[in-house]
Amino acid sequence: MSSAAAFDVAVAGGGIVGAACALACAQRGLRVALVERDTLGSGATAAGMGHIVVMDDSEAQFALTRYSQQLWHKLAATLPASAEYEQRGTLWIAADQEEMEAAEKKHRWYSERSVPCELLTPAQLAEAEPNLVRSLAGALLVKEDGVVYPPTVALELARRAEQLGDRLFVGRAIRSAGDGRIQLEDGSAIEAARIVLALGADSVQLAPHIPVRKRKGHLVITDRYPGFVRHQLVELGYLKSAHSTSADSVAFNIQPRRTGQILIGSSRQFGVEHTETDQHILAAMLARAAIYMPAIRGLSAIRVWTGFRAATPDKLPLIGPDSHDPTLFLATGHEGLGITTSLATAELTADLLTNRTPAIAATPYLPTRYAQSQPTGKESRREETNAMEWSHAGVDHGIQ
Ligand SMILES: Cc1cc2nc3c(=O)[nH]c(=O)nc-3n(C[C@H](O)[C@H](O)[C@H](O)COP(=O)(O)OP(=O)(O)OC[C@H]3O[C@@H](n4cnc5c(N)ncnc54)[C@H](O)[C@@H]3O)c2cc1C
Repeated sequence: MSSAAAFDVAVAGGGIVGAACALACAQRGLRVALVERDTLGSGATAAGMGHIVVMDDSEAQFALTRYSQQLWHKLAATLPASAEYEQRGTLWIAADQEEMEAAEKKHRWYSERSVPCELLTPAQLAEAEPNLVRSLAGALLVKEDGVVYPPTVALELARRAEQLGDRLFVGRAIRSAGDGRIQLEDGSAIEAARIVLALGADSVQLAPHIPVRKRKGHLVITDRYPGFVRHQLVELGYLKSAHSTSADSVAFNIQPRRTGQILIGSSRQFGVEHTETDQHILAAMLARAAIYMPAIRGLSAIRVWTGFRAATPDKLPLIGPDSHDPTLFLATGHEGLGITTSLATAELTADLLTNRTPAIAATPYLPTRYAQSQPTGKESRREETNAMEWSHAGVDHGIQ
């Protein structure tokens, strides 16, 4: 890539996706600027659970999560201890026989694609996780899934990018981005041949035409209880309620941290943009957790917080050139999988920007899949895109 601009690439947003993109671009010899309004890794990256999980909702989702998981395995060996990376494995919990059949289907699907996994009987499950209720039908253990502390990784990736020559602009809010220029709120500007838009759930503020909606989530963290939970535990029950018309949902999703603390999730809400805790959602989430793990009621919670996922109608991120502005490149819309898929997103982004062939096909993630619904006027574009695309939104199998 050659340009008369000060930078080859300016990355807007210093979450885990933006930091990973900045590093991957620098590793390919590009001159990169990374711009973040707050501190690095402070957005959804700080609010997320840090579950590195391979997923099977579609072939495209599987390809991206599995590729990224393998990149995480390589990166993990070089991360500082403060990144808290651990390969805990995920236990997909089946509450009854119907869910056990779903676990068996998942087992076949993963096994056909060489993902190490194993079905557990109720007795094996009780031995693996003694604090789970005893009435369960079994589980699927997906062995290579991991856990990480995402804000530390975002900082680490940005630090490595800086060492390769990237310029970090931290504490600098962006007013607009496009036509090869990032206009900052302080009146200054950054010129770049390409702008990578990695603003997470806020991406739509600077690119109102893209089909991204905020999806709120709650998490609770407990005091230290080493050994209380050993794997990431996720209920398979969401399969039954996937067609629910309710906008709000909660699911049993629990994570052991290296510190001995336990992260309890998770919730999903559309149409709620305030950051405050919703008491009814919190209560429903904890009640759900207590059904699977009654002893949770006896643990002390030390903090509750919320965050926003960047949701797209087809549950796949937007990675690739924007359909309207040739200088704009999107790296957003990762919903509940952006920690997992950050590294693959960065490799795809850097490969596409330097005309290399990516390790996996980029087509399913290209923003052009929504292009036909994007008219020219910005506001009408947003309305029409949302009206058309969200009416076709598929089944929600998100877990985080
Ligand atoms: C409750 C919850 C649980 C989750 N659990 C998981 C999980 O277990 N596993 C998983 O893979 N994913 C999980 N996710 C999703 C994951 O957290 C996100 O997909 C991921 O963090 C997105 O990273 P990002 O860099 O795109 O966005 P962000 O981390 O939000 O980064 C965007 C950055 O852009 C900055 N920014 C915004 N506007 C401007 C502006 N105008 N000027 C300058 N900077 C700006 C923000 O300050 C922010 O730092 C979870 C999300 C939530 C909410």
